[in-house]
Amino acid sequence: DLPPYIRPTWIEVNLTNVQSNVRLLKNHIGEKVHLMAVVKANAYGYGMMEIARTSLSSGATWLGVATLDEALVLRREFLKNIPILVLGYVPTEHLSVASNSDVTVTAISLEWIKEALSIVQQPIDFHLKVDTGMNRLGCKTLDDVRKVIELTAGHRNLRFTGVFTHFATSEDVNNRTYYRTQLKRFHEFLEIIPNRTEKVVHCANSGATLYQDEKPFFNMVRCGKALTGPPNEPLKHLLPVPLETSISIHSQLSLVKQVDAGEKIGYGDDYTTNETQWIGTVPIGYGDGWHQDFRRTGVLVDGKRMQIVGRISMDQLMLALDREYPVGTRVTFVGQQGNETITGDDVAREAKIPRSEVFSSMSSRVPRVYP
Ligand code: PLP
Repeated sequence: DLPPYIRPTWIEVNLTNVQSNVRLLKNHIGEKVHLMAVVKANAYGYGMMEIARTSLSSGATWLGVATLDEALVLRREFLKNIPILVLGYVPTEHLSVASNSDVTVTAISLEWIKEALSIVQQPIDFHLKVDTGMNRLGCKTLDDVRKVIELTAGHRNLRFTGVFTHFATSEDVNNRTYYRTQLKRFHEFLEIIPNRTEKVVHCANSGATLYQDEKPFFNMVRCGKALTGPPNEPLKHLLPVPLETSISIHSQLSLVKQVDAGEKIGYGDDYTTNETQWIGTVPIGYGDGWHQDFRRTGVLVDGKRMQIVGRISMDQLMLALDREYPVGTRVTFVGQQGNETITGDDVAREAKIPRSEVFSSMSSRVPRVYP
């Protein structure tokens, strides 16, 4: 019998904390507002099925993904009773696939609607995306929205069941101007939408749900990163609910040796020892998603911060250790050891990338475990 994984490198996700976060979010938005759990990109790296299942059993009533492929994987598990919205682009020639699986799609432009009308043969629900300032997807003008309304009014197959937009700066609490302009623009679009009270109306992502004023909840919010934990300070301070961290990343020392001064560590000319040094090898690399830029936060060994030295290889990296440690000693990349903690936010800040990028870039080679 093989264990679930052999190489000692793994991601731990605490689903009890996810459950608590989802309940807190649901309490925060109120009974009448739906919570969509955004579980695209393998739930930002945390595991799509586990996060979806936990969210649904803790108060979420919708699932959101980026692609129809992701929606189909969810649909196989959740049969017909959970509404699923594809937030991203679905080529219109595949609308029948979405329809067969009872997946709601996003109308991303007037052109998309025209194409869909020329193709659609069976009933499909769509949410119209309006572009209030993100400039990624959505109808940009009131005129385009009026045409969408005209073209789809009373249409037998293409059913207009929701309307939404997405914020570009919802986590910017020092300057709320752009957020407010987008929200105002969304209200302008809503004014021309017929039968609005029967539609699902949504705009808030985690940032808008947690840190912005005027409670932009309408009848649904779409939360991704808030499901799985808080941000670092100073945003953490502003949280209306005490979200808990749910992820950690670990490996173990596979080899420990003493190296003389003047030796190179790893590929190229990245690092040369200038004195005798204990070097530890760890079986994780950029092929697992641990990028060169993630070096700066170091790791935790024996409750202490240690430096990653030399270039990270595809499958391995080396540490400068403060002394000899036994093979098998735990190495923590994200998480806590003693009084020391490294958060995903720390890694993101040092690597100068968005918060969600750290975990969503962890490859499928790293097993996710749910203790
Ligand atoms: N809605 C849309 C359209 C998105 O693209 C995303 C993710 O980027 C979300 C909601 C969830 O965002 P967050 O993870 O900030 O809650």
